[in-house]
Amino acid sequence: MFPVMPQQAVTSVTTAVAGRDGRAVSLRGLRKSFGSVVAVAGVDLDVADGEFFAMLGPSGSGKTTVLRMIAGFESPTAGAVELGGRDVTRLAPFERDVNTVFQDYALFPHMSVLENVEYGLRVKRVPKAERRARAMEALASVRLDGFEKRRPAQLSGGQRQRVALARALVNRPRVLLLDEPLGALDLKLREEMQVELKAIQREVGITFVFVTHDQEEALTMSDRVAVFNAGAIEQVGTPAEIYERPATAFVAGFVGTSNLISGTTARAVLGKEGTFSVRPEKLRVVLDDADVAGSDEHSAEGTVSEVVYAGPATRFVVDLDTGTRLIALQQNQEVSSMDVMGLRGRRVRLVWQRRHEFAITS
Ligand code: ATP
Repeated sequence: MFPVMPQQAVTSVTTAVAGRDGRAVSLRGLRKSFGSVVAVAGVDLDVADGEFFAMLGPSGSGKTTVLRMIAGFESPTAGAVELGGRDVTRLAPFERDVNTVFQDYALFPHMSVLENVEYGLRVKRVPKAERRARAMEALASVRLDGFEKRRPAQLSGGQRQRVALARALVNRPRVLLLDEPLGALDLKLREEMQVELKAIQREVGITFVFVTHDQEEALTMSDRVAVFNAGAIEQVGTPAEIYERPATAFVAGFVGTSNLISGTTARAVLGKEGTFSVRPEKLRVVLDDADVAGSDEHSAEGTVSEVVYAGPATRFVVDLDTGTRLIALQQNQEVSSMDVMGLRGRRVRLVWQRRHEFAITS
């Protein structure tokens, strides 16, 4: 997060520059140091026009600083920012075809919803009739028709979030930057808004680049995700690529629960050297000797050390005989909590298809 001035959220826009190559945002060798702290350590990234793009990473991994450099609130120590194929590295925020939606929304409390949304256009001296029409259109796009006269204090958290979104969309920027946009909402509302935000983005067709530390949020909403660690990008890919084929041990651990197989276990169970990742839901917990692994499968024996019943699914912690601990997640389709809890201490075999194990760099 970073400090917010209300006027930053209503940054004016320049005329859209048509992207020659369909790239909305390009970052080239982007670096940022604050004294001796290297916040961003060389980032190269292309975001396509119309993409819903997530920058995901733990606190302090540099994603907010990258977002601020795209917005123009921070200038890079080295490297370049291009918007629509045009180098904007030296341009001020208001000269860039971007708008930012902040986590705390930065709405003007004394203004109505309509006035809040119109504000940016008023600053740019857009005539009143056009201003009103565009603000109403923006409010309709976030499904807030009928709320024009309310003050921010008379809205729910989710509705305030939508006003902030409408206030940015009214400028019709090429790129919308969102800093932890759902961070202030409670879990249930956040899940609803994840679906809603994605639908709004699809309708308006504007490129969204958003920062989050919530892996589920990134996987749910995005077309592609960049996973940040210590100021650098570890992997860029679709949610399925990131989740199913994590490129590094960090990505495997940060996005979802990771099962890493290496050393003795890799040699004994997989018959190969290296480090491999298998997701918990790909493992089958087998109690029955008759259920043998097929030729396209691998299996390992061990003891159930913990059973965590979680309603729709159960999580089994299994200590393999070769010394590795693996987590298996099983849907509770035909079992009850009584059935699964009795498995603690039992000998089991974990079986998985070879195509679900991936080599990663540690
Ligand atoms: P969060 O999710 O907590 O916002 P982040 O991944 O967005 O984290 P950044 O806010 O980009 O991370 O910070 C990256 C690093 O740069 C951190 O070590 C942070 O302390 C440091 N940093 C960021 N802004 C400044 C600043 N203005 N002055 C000094 N150090 C800073």
